[in-house]
Amino acid sequence: MSLKKSISLLIVVITFISCATNPFTGKKTMAFVSNKQLFPMAFAQYNQVLSENNVVTGTSDADMITRVGQRIAVAAERWLNANGQQGYLEDYKWEYKLIESEQVNAWCMPGGKIAFYTGILPIAQNETGVAAIMGHEVAHALANHGQQRMSAAYIQQGLAVAGNVALANDQRALGIFNQSYGIGSQVFGMLPFSRSHETEADKIGVYLMAIAEYNPDEAAELWKRMKANSGGQAPPEFLSTHPSSDTRISNLQKLAPKAKAEAKKFGVTTYRPIN
Ligand SMILES: [Zn+2]
Repeated sequence: MSLKKSISLLIVVITFISCATNPFTGKKTMAFVSNKQLFPMAFAQYNQVLSENNVVTGTSDADMITRVGQRIAVAAERWLNANGQQGYLEDYKWEYKLIESEQVNAWCMPGGKIAFYTGILPIAQNETGVAAIMGHEVAHALANHGQQRMSAAYIQQGLAVAGNVALANDQRALGIFNQSYGIGSQVFGMLPFSRSHETEADKIGVYLMAIAEYNPDEAAELWKRMKANSGGQAPPEFLSTHPSSDTRISNLQKLAPKAKAEAKKFGVTTYRPIN
Protein backbone atom coordinates (compact mmCIF):
# COMPACT_ATOMS: atom_id res chain seq x y z
CA MET A 1 0.00 0.00 0.00
CA SER A 2 1.28 3.43 -0.84
CA LEU A 3 1.99 5.90 1.91
CA LYS A 4 -0.79 8.11 0.64
CA LYS A 5 -3.28 5.26 0.81
CA SER A 6 -2.08 4.29 4.27
CA ILE A 7 -2.57 7.81 5.53
CA SER A 8 -6.04 8.00 3.98
CA LEU A 9 -6.97 4.73 5.62
CA LEU A 10 -5.62 5.95 8.94
CA ILE A 11 -7.71 9.11 8.70
CA VAL A 12 -10.81 7.06 7.88
CA VAL A 13 -10.18 4.77 10.82
CA ILE A 14 -9.59 7.67 13.22
CA THR A 15 -12.69 9.48 11.97
CA PHE A 16 -14.75 6.34 12.38
CA ILE A 17 -13.54 5.69 15.92
CA SER A 18 -13.84 9.30 16.99
CA CYS A 19 -17.38 9.94 15.80
CA ALA A 20 -19.17 9.37 19.07
CA THR A 21 -21.83 11.95 19.82
CA ASN A 22 -21.86 13.07 23.41
CA PRO A 23 -25.49 13.16 24.62
CA PHE A 24 -24.80 16.02 27.01
CA THR A 25 -23.30 18.36 24.48
CA GLY A 26 -24.61 17.00 21.17
CA LYS A 27 -21.06 17.31 19.90
CA LYS A 28 -18.93 14.68 18.23
CA THR A 29 -16.08 13.91 20.56
CA MET A 30 -12.96 11.82 20.40
CA ALA A 31 -13.18 8.57 22.27
CA PHE A 32 -10.46 6.12 21.37
CA VAL A 33 -10.74 4.46 24.72
CA SER A 34 -13.95 2.69 25.65
CA ASN A 35 -15.41 2.85 29.14
CA LYS A 36 -14.63 -0.83 29.52
CA GLN A 37 -10.94 -0.07 28.96
CA LEU A 38 -10.84 3.20 30.86
CA PHE A 39 -12.91 2.53 33.97
CA PRO A 40 -10.79 -0.29 35.45
CA MET A 41 -7.77 2.04 35.36
CA ALA A 42 -9.79 4.80 37.04
CA PHE A 43 -11.20 2.43 39.66
CA ALA A 44 -7.72 1.18 40.55
CA GLN A 45 -6.38 4.74 40.85
CA TYR A 46 -9.36 5.75 42.98
CA ASN A 47 -8.78 2.88 45.39
CA GLN A 48 -5.13 3.85 45.60
CA VAL A 49 -6.00 7.46 46.47
CA LEU A 50 -8.42 6.23 49.15
CA SER A 51 -5.81 3.90 50.62
CA GLU A 52 -3.27 6.74 50.85
CA ASN A 53 -5.66 9.21 52.48
CA ASN A 54 -7.81 9.48 55.56
CA VAL A 55 -11.38 8.77 54.44
CA VAL A 56 -14.01 10.28 56.72
CA THR A 57 -16.96 8.03 57.55
CA GLY A 58 -19.95 8.19 59.87
CA THR A 59 -20.06 11.98 60.23
CA SER A 60 -22.87 14.26 59.10
CA ASP A 61 -20.51 15.76 56.49
CA ALA A 62 -19.60 12.33 55.09
CA ASP A 63 -23.30 11.42 54.98
CA MET A 64 -24.04 14.68 53.17
CA ILE A 65 -21.47 13.90 50.45
CA THR A 66 -23.04 10.47 49.91
CA ARG A 67 -26.57 11.88 49.91
CA VAL A 68 -25.79 14.67 47.42
CA GLY A 69 -23.78 12.30 45.23
CA GLN A 70 -26.61 9.78 45.05
CA ARG A 71 -29.12 12.48 44.16
CA ILE A 72 -26.90 13.89 41.41
CA ALA A 73 -26.37 10.36 40.03
CA VAL A 74 -30.13 9.75 40.00
CA ALA A 75 -30.64 13.11 38.26
CA ALA A 76 -28.07 12.15 35.60
CA GLU A 77 -29.80 8.83 35.02
CA ARG A 78 -33.25 10.44 34.74
CA TRP A 79 -31.93 13.04 32.31
CA LEU A 80 -30.19 10.42 30.17
CA ASN A 81 -33.22 8.12 30.10
CA ALA A 82 -35.48 11.01 29.11
CA ASN A 83 -33.07 11.77 26.27
CA GLY A 84 -32.99 8.27 24.83
CA GLN A 85 -29.65 7.35 26.40
CA GLN A 86 -30.60 4.30 28.42
CA GLY A 87 -27.51 2.30 29.26
CA TYR A 88 -25.12 5.26 29.15
CA LEU A 89 -24.24 4.72 32.81
CA GLU A 90 -24.06 0.93 32.49
CA ASP A 91 -20.42 0.60 33.50
CA TYR A 92 -20.54 3.34 36.14
CA LYS A 93 -19.83 2.34 39.71
CA TRP A 94 -20.75 5.43 41.70
CA GLU A 95 -18.84 6.08 44.90
CA TYR A 96 -18.74 9.24 47.00
CA LYS A 97 -16.01 9.74 49.59
CA LEU A 98 -14.99 12.57 51.89
CA ILE A 99 -11.23 12.84 52.43
CA GLU A 100 -9.76 14.53 55.52
CA SER A 101 -7.46 17.18 54.06
CA GLU A 102 -6.95 20.94 54.17
CA GLN A 103 -6.79 20.88 50.38
CA VAL A 104 -9.55 22.84 48.71
CA ASN A 105 -10.39 20.14 46.21
CA ALA A 106 -13.07 17.89 44.76
CA TRP A 107 -13.09 15.67 41.71
CA CYS A 108 -14.90 12.91 39.88
CA MET A 109 -12.92 10.24 38.08
CA PRO A 110 -14.21 8.33 35.05
CA GLY A 111 -16.94 5.87 35.97
CA GLY A 112 -18.37 7.98 38.82
CA LYS A 113 -15.63 7.86 41.46
CA ILE A 114 -16.01 11.04 43.48
CA ALA A 115 -13.88 12.59 46.20
CA PHE A 116 -14.48 15.73 48.24
CA TYR A 117 -11.77 17.10 50.52
CA THR A 118 -12.86 18.56 53.86
CA GLY A 119 -11.01 21.76 52.92
CA ILE A 120 -13.61 22.64 50.28
CA LEU A 121 -16.59 22.38 52.65
CA PRO A 122 -16.26 25.89 54.17
CA ILE A 123 -16.48 27.36 50.65
CA ALA A 124 -19.37 25.09 49.70
CA GLN A 125 -20.93 26.44 52.89
CA ASN A 126 -24.13 24.39 52.65
CA GLU A 127 -25.57 21.27 51.00
CA THR A 128 -26.74 23.20 47.95
CA GLY A 129 -23.17 24.49 47.48
CA VAL A 130 -21.93 20.90 47.68
CA ALA A 131 -24.52 19.98 45.03
CA ALA A 132 -23.20 22.74 42.74
CA ILE A 133 -19.62 21.38 43.03
CA MET A 134 -20.83 17.78 42.73
CA GLY A 135 -22.88 18.59 39.62
CA HIS A 136 -19.91 20.31 38.02
CA GLU A 137 -17.45 17.49 38.72
CA VAL A 138 -19.86 14.73 37.69
CA ALA A 139 -20.49 16.71 34.49
CA HIS A 140 -16.79 16.55 33.58
CA ALA A 141 -16.94 12.76 33.91
CA LEU A 142 -20.25 12.34 32.06
CA ALA A 143 -19.10 14.53 29.16
CA ASN A 144 -15.90 12.44 28.92
CA HIS A 145 -13.67 15.49 29.19
CA GLY A 146 -10.75 13.52 30.57
CA GLN A 147 -11.27 10.86 27.95
CA GLN A 148 -11.07 13.49 25.22
CA ARG A 149 -7.79 14.72 26.67
CA MET A 150 -6.57 11.13 26.76
CA SER A 151 -7.56 10.64 23.11
CA ALA A 152 -5.67 13.78 22.18
CA ALA A 153 -2.58 12.35 23.90
CA TYR A 154 -2.94 9.19 21.83
CA ILE A 155 -2.93 11.21 18.63
CA GLN A 156 0.05 13.23 19.79
CA GLN A 157 1.98 10.08 20.48
CA GLY A 158 0.89 8.38 17.26
CA LEU A 159 -0.81 5.57 19.15
CA ALA A 160 -4.39 6.25 18.17
CA VAL A 161 -5.06 3.19 16.05
CA ALA A 162 -2.76 0.68 17.66
CA GLY A 163 -3.86 2.00 21.03
CA ASN A 164 -7.46 1.30 20.30
CA VAL A 165 -6.82 -2.30 19.33
CA ALA A 166 -5.05 -3.61 22.40
CA LEU A 167 -5.00 -1.36 25.38
CA ALA A 168 -6.42 -3.05 28.39
CA ASN A 169 -3.28 -3.99 30.27
CA ASP A 170 -0.82 -1.92 28.34
CA GLN A 171 1.65 0.09 30.43
CA ARG A 172 1.54 2.81 27.82
CA ALA A 173 -2.20 3.12 28.33
CA LEU A 174 -1.71 3.54 32.05
CA GLY A 175 0.98 6.14 31.44
CA ILE A 176 -1.28 8.13 29.14
CA PHE A 177 -4.12 7.76 31.61
CA ASN A 178 -2.03 9.13 34.46
CA GLN A 179 -0.70 11.91 32.28
CA SER A 180 -4.18 12.83 31.04
CA TYR A 181 -5.79 12.89 34.45
CA GLY A 182 -2.78 14.35 36.23
CA ILE A 183 -2.36 11.57 38.71
CA GLY A 184 0.80 11.55 40.75
CA SER A 185 1.96 8.68 42.90
CA GLN A 186 0.85 10.29 46.16
CA VAL A 187 -1.58 13.07 45.55
CA PHE A 188 -4.30 13.29 42.98
CA GLY A 189 -3.55 16.59 41.33
CA MET A 190 -6.19 17.74 38.96
CA LEU A 191 -5.16 19.08 35.58
CA PRO A 192 -7.00 22.16 34.45
CA PHE A 193 -9.67 21.53 31.84
CA SER A 194 -9.97 23.83 28.86
CA ARG A 195 -12.25 26.83 29.10
CA SER A 196 -14.80 25.21 26.78
CA HIS A 197 -14.88 22.08 28.94
CA GLU A 198 -15.37 24.24 32.02
CA THR A 199 -18.28 26.03 30.38
CA GLU A 200 -19.85 22.68 29.43
CA ALA A 201 -19.41 21.33 32.95
CA ASP A 202 -20.97 24.48 34.43
CA LYS A 203 -24.01 24.08 32.20
CA ILE A 204 -24.52 20.35 32.69
CA GLY A 205 -23.78 20.78 36.41
CA VAL A 206 -26.56 23.32 37.09
CA TYR A 207 -29.05 21.20 35.14
CA LEU A 208 -28.18 18.17 37.23
CA MET A 209 -28.40 20.05 40.53
CA ALA A 210 -31.80 21.49 39.56
CA ILE A 211 -33.18 18.07 38.57
CA ALA A 212 -31.87 16.83 41.95
CA GLU A 213 -34.01 19.56 43.57
CA TYR A 214 -31.13 21.81 44.59
CA ASN A 215 -31.73 25.48 43.78
CA PRO A 216 -29.55 26.33 40.74
CA ASP A 217 -29.46 30.01 41.78
CA GLU A 218 -26.93 28.94 44.40
CA ALA A 219 -24.33 27.95 41.75
CA ALA A 220 -23.42 31.57 41.01
CA GLU A 221 -23.28 32.29 44.75
CA LEU A 222 -20.88 29.36 45.21
CA TRP A 223 -18.55 30.67 42.51
CA LYS A 224 -18.63 34.11 44.11
CA ARG A 225 -17.34 32.49 47.29
CA MET A 226 -14.72 30.62 45.24
CA LYS A 227 -13.62 33.95 43.82
CA ALA A 228 -13.31 35.49 47.27
CA ASN A 229 -11.14 32.54 48.35
CA SER A 230 -8.84 32.35 45.35
CA GLY A 231 -6.39 35.04 46.50
CA GLY A 232 -3.15 34.44 48.33
CA GLN A 233 0.27 33.25 47.25
CA ALA A 234 -0.59 29.71 46.25
CA PRO A 235 -4.23 29.30 45.26
CA PRO A 236 -5.54 25.90 46.37
CA GLU A 237 -5.78 23.08 43.85
CA PHE A 238 -9.43 23.40 42.90
CA LEU A 239 -9.37 27.18 42.73
CA SER A 240 -6.24 27.27 40.58
CA THR A 241 -7.81 24.89 38.04
CA HIS A 242 -11.21 26.57 38.31
CA PRO A 243 -10.69 30.32 38.05
CA SER A 244 -13.89 32.06 39.03
CA SER A 245 -14.30 34.99 36.70
CA ASP A 246 -17.15 37.47 36.50
CA THR A 247 -18.00 35.91 33.12
CA ARG A 248 -18.38 32.51 34.72
CA ILE A 249 -20.61 33.91 37.47
CA SER A 250 -22.82 35.83 35.04
CA ASN A 251 -23.10 32.75 32.78
CA LEU A 252 -24.28 30.71 35.75
CA GLN A 253 -26.83 33.38 36.63
CA LYS A 254 -28.18 33.19 33.06
CA LEU A 255 -28.23 29.38 33.16
CA ALA A 256 -30.22 29.11 36.41
CA PRO A 257 -33.66 29.91 34.89
CA LYS A 258 -32.94 27.46 32.03
CA ALA A 259 -32.01 24.78 34.53
CA LYS A 260 -35.25 25.43 36.41
CA ALA A 261 -37.23 25.07 33.16
CA GLU A 262 -35.44 21.77 32.47
CA ALA A 263 -36.09 20.52 36.02
CA LYS A 264 -39.78 21.34 35.61
CA LYS A 265 -39.94 18.68 32.87
CA PHE A 266 -39.03 16.21 35.60
CA GLY A 267 -41.74 17.50 37.95
CA VAL A 268 -39.40 19.65 40.02
CA THR A 269 -40.97 23.00 40.90
CA THR A 270 -39.64 23.62 44.41
CA TYR A 271 -36.17 23.24 45.84
CA ARG A 272 -34.65 22.06 49.05
CA PRO A 273 -34.02 24.88 51.53
CA ILE A 274 -30.50 26.31 51.34
CA ASN A 275 -28.90 25.75 54.72
ZN1 LIG B 1 -14.18 21.93 36.16
